[in-house]
Amino acid sequence: MKLTADYHTHTVWSDGKNTALENAARAKELGLQAIAITEHGYSHYFRGLKRKETAPWLEEIEKARRAVDLPILTGMECNIRGVSGLCDFTEADYDNFDVYLAGIHVVIRYERFSDRKIGFGGWLREKFHVKPSRSYIRDVTRAYINAVEKNPIDIITHLNFMCFADAVEVAKCCRDYGTYLEISSKKEHLTDDELAAVAATGVRFVINSDAHSVARVGDLKLAEEQIARVGVPLDRIDNIDGRLPHFRFAEFKSRR
Ligand SMILES: [Zn+2]
Ligand SMILES: [Zn+2]
Repeated sequence: MKLTADYHTHTVWSDGKNTALENAARAKELGLQAIAITEHGYSHYFRGLKRKETAPWLEEIEKARRAVDLPILTGMECNIRGVSGLCDFTEADYDNFDVYLAGIHVVIRYERFSDRKIGFGGWLREKFHVKPSRSYIRDVTRAYINAVEKNPIDIITHLNFMCFADAVEVAKCCRDYGTYLEISSKKEHLTDDELAAVAATGVRFVINSDAHSVARVGDLKLAEEQIARVGVPLDRIDNIDGRLPHFRFAEFKSRR
């Protein structure tokens, strides 16, 4: 299995250790056909890119594009901010970005006070080994599904990291809307049984490194091992073995 493109890498503008130039140079060295630079979203306290930093961040990526002969995509790992599915991007942000990633994180500005349950509530349950209630799972599942239905999201990152959704229901929604589910090579977020059940829905996948340092750009080892154990059909993974994904965000923008 060979990775074609890595669509989830962080740089010093969020909580990564390296620059866009360094990440891109490494991707080029590995023979990837593209890389996306995807910082944490605007509503992430401490680690998110700030809206006013967007222009200098874009300039830095532009410089990297001039230095490295490789498509370097601008992206953001937006936060899903509540059960309503609200994400960090407003339509005014769309022109600044090529790829739209979204996931649930803990320390963010939630839409409503009660929305703390989806991220912070998941973190507490994980930390203290509290079994998630059915109503909690229902709310997190709703948050993911609403996000995918209301926003042209290309990739859902690390499904069920620090939170607990009905992964199969989320996968069915992603399948229907043409949103990819990420298989992360940073950490396994779904059990083998969950990944098998998710794959059975027919959803399509991308493998991403979620690299926070240049050394992990293009890494797919952990994902490759889980995919082999579970038997995920390789033709369902769209950024390996020469294939490139078809992203809905770009298509959505081209129709505007
Ligand atoms: Zn993340
Ligand atoms: Zn990330």
